[in-house]
Amino acid sequence: MRAAVETRPAYDVRKVREDFPILSTRVHGKPLVYLDNAATSQKPRAVIDAMRSYYETLNSNIHRGVHHLSELATRAFEAARLKAARFLNAADPKEIVFVRGATEAINLVAQSFGAGWKAGDEVLVTHLEHHSNIVPWQILRDTRGIVLRVAPIDDRGEVVLEEFERLLSPRTKLVSVAHVSNALGTVNPVQRMIKLARGAGAAVLLDGAQAVPHLPVDVRALDCDFYAFSGHKLYGPTGIGVLYGKAALLEKMPPWQGGGDMILSVSFEKTVYNRIPHKFEAGTPHIEGVIGLAPALDYVTGLGLAAIAAHEHDLLVYATAALSEIQGLRIYGTARDKAGVLSFTLEGVHPHDIGTILDQEGLAIRTGHHCAQPVMERYGIAATARASFGLYNTRPEVDALVAGLRRVREVFA
Ligand code: PMP
Repeated sequence: MRAAVETRPAYDVRKVREDFPILSTRVHGKPLVYLDNAATSQKPRAVIDAMRSYYETLNSNIHRGVHHLSELATRAFEAARLKAARFLNAADPKEIVFVRGATEAINLVAQSFGAGWKAGDEVLVTHLEHHSNIVPWQILRDTRGIVLRVAPIDDRGEVVLEEFERLLSPRTKLVSVAHVSNALGTVNPVQRMIKLARGAGAAVLLDGAQAVPHLPVDVRALDCDFYAFSGHKLYGPTGIGVLYGKAALLEKMPPWQGGGDMILSVSFEKTVYNRIPHKFEAGTPHIEGVIGLAPALDYVTGLGLAAIAAHEHDLLVYATAALSEIQGLRIYGTARDKAGVLSFTLEGVHPHDIGTILDQEGLAIRTGHHCAQPVMERYGIAATARASFGLYNTRPEVDALVAGLRRVREVFA
């Protein structure tokens, strides 16, 4: 991880909130309390303005035009790539592939990096993965006969490292793990896991969808091969995300989608593919999304990810203590290293009922299996209610959550 240089003023959450127009919305007559940040986050004005301004001043297709607007749009697009590279501390912007989101990034790696895998080759994941880091490997299992291995988690929701190590083998082609769990909040000890994977000669993909909004990430310090994230969980637009890949690997990988922009020349006899990263970006990309992602990266960098992490950690500790006082409430995910996610059940109340009653109070939380059904199965439940914190949440909002849950208790008394 990159050492944080903190020369900024104290974190002023009141001022931060002013940057997010939606936070002044009222829901059912109550002030919105948005605690569903792990699903998607709200957008600061800078992001909204950049996207609006793109359509008002720059809109045109990129990379192919010689006209003024196309050149400006191309420059803005590639400047965002450079920004994303700096954000992850990648060695070169060509290691940044723009994709739809973490899901598409993982599918790209499965289809392209996995193109040469044979029956019996192995991919190692953990029991706390999001479905998007399970199903792409199952598709390869069904079509190619690869083996999917799963490292177990303990009751706290921490990966059992001895088992993880035991499951590595000379056949392990890839270790693909969440940096942070969306269902439990567990921050995986990825540095250690990467070292173990390297020892077995396996490549490593980190699913950073829940990590980049909450902690500083340095792909070179981590020495992972691939890193995936989604813009929309990082206060940026939907439909845009990043796959970081080491240049040496991306160069060797075959394209996974064919079309415009990913080629240098095409004839019916022979097509020459474009250089990386364009080789992986077939067709007109989500230009407006990329242009909206850049100010989102600036926004979190400006606040400082270490400061954001500290703020969210305070909320997590405060909320964990307060929720633990509620009779019949059980928290799932008590890892020692945890991001701002609180998954819980309330005895005798279906999680969907919790969500519906809280909604009446203006509180937005998530209920269900959180696209992590194996996690639910691990604890013998079908669903949880989940509050997840973002950089604009406050202690009074946690108090509102606690008051709402007390109301749920009364309704079901
Ligand atoms: N991985 C994790 C850990 C996630 O939380 C999510 C989104 N909930 C994803 C992957 C998939 O992200 P997206 O739907 O933006 O592609």
